Amino acid sequence: MREYCDYCHNEEDVKIVNKDEVYPVYGDEIPVKAQVMVCMHCGNELYSRTLDSQTLKKVYDIYRRKHKLLFPNEIKAIREQYCLSQRAFSKLLNWGDKTIVRYENGSLQDYVHNALLLFLRNPVHMEEYLQMNENSLNPKDRDLLFKRIKELCKQNNTDEVGKFTDTLKNFQIVYSSDYEIMEREYHTASANSNESQTVLFHISGEYLISGACDRGMNNESSIKEDNILNIAA
Ligand SMILES: [Zn+2]
Repeated sequence: MREYCDYCHNEEDVKIVNKDEVYPVYGDEIPVKAQVMVCMHCGNELYSRTLDSQTLKKVYDIYRRKHKLLFPNEIKAIREQYCLSQRAFSKLLNWGDKTIVRYENGSLQDYVHNALLLFLRNPVHMEEYLQMNENSLNPKDRDLLFKRIKELCKQNNTDEVGKFTDTLKNFQIVYSSDYEIMEREYHTASANSNESQTVLFHISGEYLISGACDRGMNNESSIKEDNILNIAA
């Protein structure tokens, strides 16, 4: 392989060698195993745009992992889950036209942008955000986004129910002080639901799924272990 060498002022044989380098990124120092091009005649290192951008990509990936930043494909996935174009997404976020394009193509995002993207990954948050920033999108895009958010929320709920039903199949009831809360929430929920409807209980950060039992529950009855296990079976 031959390239023009700035030191020899001539086209010379070159080789690619591995080199340990340290790149400063946002005040942090990132060590990286880089590949560089060296002139075989004078031994000097020559600039290679291709190798340089490969190294930079490695550096950013290390930095992202270290600081738990989103990767470009994750950023793209967040936008795409809302079926938004890059342009519409930029408008919604109030970012410059090309910002999202750069991030999706590998530029390193800043922390504030990263935090906003992480927050908006959750459709419930996106809905709140959109309500506060309705005017940043044209009416058509805005309506489509609201519709898409609803779909995603519904989809997530369905996933949750499936996940927790599976958990319950092997679930062993542990009697605890949470029991009372569970019972109270059950009666609150069942007051407004028909008997076959599925009811979600939120207990100490964990969900239990139960149906309003087919054997019927009155105010005097309490949730019994076999009632809950029945429903899961
Ligand atoms: Zn040279």
